[in-house]
Amino acid sequence: MSITPTRTAIDRATCLALDDADPLAPMRERFVLPDDVIYLDGNSLGALPRHTAARLEQVITEEWGTGLIRSWNEAGWFAKPRTIGDRIAPLIGADVGEVVLGDSTSASLFQAAVAAVRLRPGRRVIVAERGNFPTDLYMLEAVQELLGGGVPLERRLIADDGPTLDEVLDDRVAVVVLTQVDYRTGRMHDIAEVTRTVHAAGALVIWDLCHSVGAVPIDLNAAEADFAVGCTYKYLNGGPGSPSFIWAAARHHGTARPALTGWHGHARPFDFTVDYAPAAGIERFRVGTPQLLSVAGLEASLDIWDDVDLTLVREKSLRLTELFLSLVDTRLTPRWGIEPVTPRESARRGSQVSLRHEDGYAVMQALIERGVIGDFRAPDLIRFGFTPLYTSYTDVWDAVEALEDVLHSEIWREPRFARRGTVT
Ligand SMILES: *Cc1c(COP(=O)(O)O)cnc(C)c1O
Repeated sequence: MSITPTRTAIDRATCLALDDADPLAPMRERFVLPDDVIYLDGNSLGALPRHTAARLEQVITEEWGTGLIRSWNEAGWFAKPRTIGDRIAPLIGADVGEVVLGDSTSASLFQAAVAAVRLRPGRRVIVAERGNFPTDLYMLEAVQELLGGGVPLERRLIADDGPTLDEVLDDRVAVVVLTQVDYRTGRMHDIAEVTRTVHAAGALVIWDLCHSVGAVPIDLNAAEADFAVGCTYKYLNGGPGSPSFIWAAARHHGTARPALTGWHGHARPFDFTVDYAPAAGIERFRVGTPQLLSVAGLEASLDIWDDVDLTLVREKSLRLTELFLSLVDTRLTPRWGIEPVTPRESARRGSQVSLRHEDGYAVMQALIERGVIGDFRAPDLIRFGFTPLYTSYTDVWDAVEALEDVLHSEIWREPRFARRGTVT
């Protein structure tokens, strides 16, 4: 059933029919979601898989409580960052042995960026995006300082409205750091095409996959990319604070020197030698003891991903965002001026849609009170993430109805909706 031809004639029954025909609809049962909530923020914190609590309980009572220190071997604790990395690999087009868990994405980006700059000695420029999630830029500042040898490395920033990548690339650029899907607008880069452009200038590329892993099929090896990092608590549903991951193309494993040289990245950690010697493969990007309770949450969520076809996820994601955009176009923009900033062209769109509204913060707070949870990104964007495993077409319909009601009633003007929490 196609959405576009019936653009103006969509009704709730159409959405129910789309849900009936949806091959991913049964996946929703594998998550716990409150009955009175439409959750459109899984791009920020994924929903709770139904079996995660039992898995954590087992890790705590059996592996920790009974197994105690024996679990480092018997429950495979020491190998977890690698074995779980191997389960993330198929989601990003990586091979077995190319992915390892890290700490936070910020820390993994630092690891990757230091390694990449060192692989291009003599080149003194880092290219990044002005609109990137700020932690990426903040971490790169530390890299500029650290590897500059007294004079910080130069930073060149590109943006969707220019300067373009072509304009800033030259033989002084060591590394280009890009996020595949923009956290604010949902704009998506073509990994293969951009990687080719970066390589043609002799530089390396680091992809941040935070807003794309689990939402779009990714093929890092087909693109011959160099490094990638990403979160697991967004579309992958690993749980609050679940660990990041880092990927390095196998061709860099022997030569990449990570920033943080901890004992878990050592070639023989239990020799307890005085000097550092990096592990041969991707494990050299490990640092210290993994946060095993958070790792257990991620491991549980990957049980779901093992059964998921990402092509179906992408198809449904595009239909959900397309449905949302067309309902906004027909019902909201003409009356209240609220407008999407997300690309219309499907190849350039991730799995989220953002709308611009001057009082976006208050509008979103009022919407959340109505049970539709999205979020707000300064200065004026309200953002909706569409997670095909547990978002239905009817959810999209009901969310637009609720937003229409909030705008129509102007309830968002009540002063309580203007009060800001620490986290927006
Ligand atoms: C969510 C996100 C992060 C999060 O970084 P943490 O260090 O895990 O808090 C980083 N980069 C991007 C692009 C993100 O979207």
